[in-house]
Amino acid sequence: PPDVEGLGRAAWTLLHSMTATYPTSPSSVQQTDARQFLSSFSRLYPCWVCAEDFQQWMRDPCNAPRVSSRDEFGQWMCEAHNAVNVKLGKERFNCARWEERWRTGWKD
Ligand code: FAD
Repeated sequence: PPDVEGLGRAAWTLLHSMTATYPTSPSSVQQTDARQFLSSFSRLYPCWVCAEDFQQWMRDPCNAPRVSSRDEFGQWMCEAHNAVNVKLGKERFNCARWEERWRTGWKD
């Protein structure tokens, strides 16, 4: 069976790094690419229960991907990750600090 934890850490690194390098003002093509990537990712992610729950979470209109800017996309990804953290009984991450963690480095 796949290493669900190692896979998860690697996947979150990819996903948050993508939001960290996403344009501040993305073109409509870039926004479509981001939405299509998430849609494919949520169907192809090689932990099937994880993928199923992630798709279901994204299907809620409140959780539809927000890709209109780097900040929106980064916040949205942080919320997605927090939904999984809550499901697994882990601590919520403070989304005000997503960019420090994944782009600029911690300030303290
Ligand atoms: P991770 O949760 O992997 O986090 C890595 C690092 O990201 C942390 O050390 C922290 O610095 C930072 N971080 C934490 N939270 C946030 C946040 N909200 N925003 C930004 N940065 C943050 N595992 C299961 O057992 N069952 C599942 O159903 C499941 N579903 C998953 C669905 C998806 C889409 C993904 C990508 C992973 C899923 N996982 C699931 C894996 C799980 O989320 C963790 O990756 C795994 O349990 C390892 O956790 P960890 O505590 O090492 O840190």
